[in-house]
Amino acid sequence: MKEISVLEPVFYSEFRCTGGECREHCCKGWNIVLDKPTVNHYLNSSDAEIRAIAKTNIIKTKKSYADWGKISFSQKDDCAFMDEARLCSIHKKLGAAALSPTCANYPRMQKATRYEIKQTLTLSCPEAAKKLLLNSNAMLLREKKELRARELNAPELNEEGRLINLMCTNILFGCGSHTQQGLYGIAMLFLYLEKLENNEEKYAKAEEYFASVLHSVENGEVQQLIDKIKPDYQLQWRLLLRLLNYLRNKKSVRGKATLQRYVDNLYSILSDIADDGRVNLPMQRLDNAWKEKVAPWLAERPHIMRNYLQYRMYNDGFPAIKTHSRLANLYLLTAEWFLLKSLVSSCVAQDGNITEDDVINVIYSFHTLTKHDRLSDKAFLNEIDKTKVNDDISLIYLLT
Ligand code: SF4
Repeated sequence: MKEISVLEPVFYSEFRCTGGECREHCCKGWNIVLDKPTVNHYLNSSDAEIRAIAKTNIIKTKKSYADWGKISFSQKDDCAFMDEARLCSIHKKLGAAALSPTCANYPRMQKATRYEIKQTLTLSCPEAAKKLLLNSNAMLLREKKELRARELNAPELNEEGRLINLMCTNILFGCGSHTQQGLYGIAMLFLYLEKLENNEEKYAKAEEYFASVLHSVENGEVQQLIDKIKPDYQLQWRLLLRLLNYLRNKKSVRGKATLQRYVDNLYSILSDIADDGRVNLPMQRLDNAWKEKVAPWLAERPHIMRNYLQYRMYNDGFPAIKTHSRLANLYLLTAEWFLLKSLVSSCVAQDGNITEDDVINVIYSFHTLTKHDRLSDKAFLNEIDKTKVNDDISLIYLLT
């Protein structure tokens, strides 16, 4: 027998679908893929209504056993099986066991290595985002042990990757709501690791340096270093505009209308530049909104940013993109954080206030549009390459 460790964050165990009360139902606005048994089950259902809906609305794709068909959508973009009360007629008439794997599991996901399963939720579900962001213990991990006949059919755990991931997680935890300090601390760690010789002292030295970074974050030295950086508004403005253009041009799917409101808001602020092309005005306006309203608001709710970044470390296995350097991975995370921060700040700059609902909306809709495949990661890295000055360390200009 093999012992398998199953990790489960608190927000995963506490998640309950809100069904008809959901602020943006997942039974609309995107492809719902059905496996072969589900397609056949619905087409041959003993329930006449289910059978009729299936015959008219299931499009057979036959791409693979798991991707055998998809459900067409009504003019309102709703799943054909959604009834007038916005409830699932499959669930109501045939029971939960009849749901397709896609519908039965969403938003739950698993990340597995040979001897470990990490349970997680995708943040494209607004209720999952809410549970993560508003519960201060959301990312506390519970561990269970299971005995199985054999190990999992999954890759081996990369011990070095896990160690670096844990160091980054701890640095971000140590900075509380001052995320810029944590990201700067991780940049320091990655630069140090790049220079480290590959010998038997490597891990002891890495751990020693990690402890010194953590100490510098906690005693304010890292913030003093950030305070000495002259803001590069031009770089910030160019990057934001590129990322916003990418999001605006994404095809219309679930979450797009919600994100579009925030994107348009930020876009209109960024467009207000001086006649001579200087971009200081909009960037200072965003910076003021952040420093005067958003940062103090977040400091009263330190779990919001802390949980979000702990989730990104846990869920993504940061630094996750193996084709790119650790610093390039950090640049991507920093650019995404800078974009989210700017979207939230633009609410304050336009409306004068910020609410928990705004933060949930920005996070879940951003994840819906960008985190269901690796296309957006690649596109964002591409936009970063076009914007950055010299090398990946110019990410520090996003931290001021
Ligand atoms: S998006 Fe989440 S809360 Fe909303 S209906 Fe789907 S699973 Fe339920």
